[in-house]
Amino acid sequence: ERLLNQEAELNEQSFEQSLRPQYLKQYIGQEKVKANLSVYIEAAKMREETLDHVLLYGPPGLGKTTLAVIIANEMGVNVRTTSGPAIERPGDLAAILSALEPGDVLFIDEIHRLPRTVEEVLYPAMEDFCLDIVIGKGPTARSVRIDLPPFTLVGATTRAGSLSAPLRDRFGVLSRLEYYTEPQLADIIVRTAVIMETEMDQHAAGELARRSRGTPRIANRLLRRVRDFAQVRGDGTITRDMADYALELMQVDRLGLDHIDHKLLKGIIEKFRGGPVGLETIAATIGEESHTIEDVYEPYLLQIGFIQRTPRGRIVTELVYRHFQIDPLNE
Ligand code: ADP
Repeated sequence: ERLLNQEAELNEQSFEQSLRPQYLKQYIGQEKVKANLSVYIEAAKMREETLDHVLLYGPPGLGKTTLAVIIANEMGVNVRTTSGPAIERPGDLAAILSALEPGDVLFIDEIHRLPRTVEEVLYPAMEDFCLDIVIGKGPTARSVRIDLPPFTLVGATTRAGSLSAPLRDRFGVLSRLEYYTEPQLADIIVRTAVIMETEMDQHAAGELARRSRGTPRIANRLLRRVRDFAQVRGDGTITRDMADYALELMQVDRLGLDHIDHKLLKGIIEKFRGGPVGLETIAATIGEESHTIEDVYEPYLLQIGFIQRTPRGRIVTELVYRHFQIDPLNE
């Protein structure tokens, strides 16, 4: 089963790769971020300098990795991709940095999870393009300075708040990605359908967009599943009815909330009278990791006003009772 999961995961990854827009012009939405980045990119190119380090933050699936690749393409350089948890020791980072070509983009996903010791090696690398390496141990230890090629670090994080201040301060550009609007998601869905050579009507795109939680990754994933249903249970065309039918079978409700969102919200209502309740307690009750709830599920529920954070914990709002047609007085 593990192997099957890995295979599914790889499939999912290569599917995502194939859909990535390559240049800013093809990147839908995030207008402010795009407008600013295009100026910084053009200016850096005119001065024949590397682009300043860029920090991208926002919930998963909004297009941070895509944007990092686009930045490299627009600058006409290569991109090297890694992630915070993958770089365990300072030596790992040193190896990556010294293999870069001048001007390259280094993309570090989940940069808030870099170990402290690695972070400290990153500071001089970002600031002065050099590495201070300590050779030997004890009284004979000495520090050597190695020059690096100039590079652009693009960091991505779901939480700008958990980045240390010294690291955050070393980025020249900080861009926050926002949830996408329904028309933007519909555009992304239509674009994906064209790439997959799938027939789809406009209403189906709208319906999928409405249920994608503002997130391109979810939009593309739902589209792929609906396409399966259309192929097996229909004539291959994605109609609005087919989309509705498939989404219902996938337990995605009309706001795009899935069974984990439901478990979370109903758990707070049924076990804690609507809150306030602490994150760890919720996590333990519904059997999900607290950081998954915090990074993946909660941001959208906060965005649509279903959950509020209070000093004493999370509470569900009246909107949730209405969504589930529960009478708050009877709870
Ligand atoms: P993140 O790194 O923020 O988790 P990704 O960059 O991996 O998100 O994006 C997830 C998927 O969504 C990718 O397959 C990408 O093609 C698609 N995507 C993201 N943003 C856009 C966009 N603005 N326009 C078109 N497709 C997008």
